[in-house]
Amino acid sequence: MKREEFPILNEQVHGRKLVYLDNAATSQKPQCVVDAIAEAYSRWNSNIHRGVHHLSQIATQKHEDARKAVAQFINARSSDEIIFTKGTTDSINALAFSIGELLLHEGDEVIVSGVEHHSNIVPWQMACERKKSTLRHIPLREDLSLDIEAFKGLLSDRTKVVSVAHVSNVLGIIQPIEEIIRLAHERHIPVCIDGAQSVPHMSVDVQALDCDFLAFSGHKMYGPTGIGVLYGKREWLEQLPPHEGGGEMINHVRWSGTTYNDLPYKFEAGTPNYVGSHALHVAMDYIRAIGWETLEQHEHDLTHYCEQQLSAIDGVHIYAAGMPKAGVVSFNLFNNGQLIHPFDVGTLLDQQGVAVRTGHHCAEPLIDDMAVPGTVRVSFGLYNDRSDIDTFIAALRRAQMMLS
Ligand code: PMP
Repeated sequence: MKREEFPILNEQVHGRKLVYLDNAATSQKPQCVVDAIAEAYSRWNSNIHRGVHHLSQIATQKHEDARKAVAQFINARSSDEIIFTKGTTDSINALAFSIGELLLHEGDEVIVSGVEHHSNIVPWQMACERKKSTLRHIPLREDLSLDIEAFKGLLSDRTKVVSVAHVSNVLGIIQPIEEIIRLAHERHIPVCIDGAQSVPHMSVDVQALDCDFLAFSGHKMYGPTGIGVLYGKREWLEQLPPHEGGGEMINHVRWSGTTYNDLPYKFEAGTPNYVGSHALHVAMDYIRAIGWETLEQHEHDLTHYCEQQLSAIDGVHIYAAGMPKAGVVSFNLFNNGQLIHPFDVGTLLDQQGVAVRTGHHCAEPLIDDMAVPGTVRVSFGLYNDRSDIDTFIAALRRAQMMLS
């Protein structure tokens, strides 16, 4: 599907055709996104919002059109609820700081889950440290699913916010966020969803989910690096204090004090990444033109096929095999019961032109829980097909022979 529209996929790696299976880290970009960036700098680059001149007005229009497109993409009520950031990490850092200021006091608690990426752990640890609060996490069951009964036990009057990944970047499991949101809302606790691994792979509707916040990155959804989104319900964003000060986020600045701008600008200090937001708009249009049903079905088929092919190899252990997943499969290779280091597997795959990711995937607490040094992770995008998986499996079999 659409492979020819992604120029990088024509590259050779170590003399072989590139098979790119590292989409959870970042996706490749279609020509239309590459062209949008080149066109922006060639034809209309200009700082936005403050300019009366022609180019500035074009750039401002493109940035605000992109905001509306994001609102539509995730079904937000209003584009005022869309804050442009650098990416998921930036979004969660901004939120953790502001929530910390508004809600956290000594003795309060924040709950994340046992599968989180470091970017949904460390910002909350920092906020908790600042506010003398405690970070708790939903433990995992034996099968690596979240222990929802334990989550119920963690919720209390001390809980001030819950922040969980929609899809685990290590295991690919689609988490039961609907239930997590419902349970938290019964106690009027706001919920942030880390959508870094879900928004690129499935239709995410913030109104249907009723999440209070959603963070995601442009570069994982065929858009450019350096642009991301923090969605927040208006009721929350209006109450939260800004996390950064500077130009654009102000109404008036006097020596006696500053008044802040309206939403969403209150949270967008400094010159925004208007080229990035425009290119993200093009990427979202690209996804919409294919359609979620086609995309989800395609990636579901690849995940299923990959697990099937992997499980036919002796010595492969797939983590969370058979669970509902979104485009990610993690495994390790064993030789007579001894784990072969994932780094060695990844290196031998790379030499055969197959790009996968190995290691802790920025989720050390989960990897510690799994009691392994890391995993080999393959992750899919819309341009992958079954032949990529066949090439990967053949390369893995060769790697296994060399390492045994
Ligand atoms: N959360 C999850 C679940 C992720 O997979 C990632 C990226 N690997 C992030 C957060 C961080 O995203 P970014 O590096 O784009 O800020």
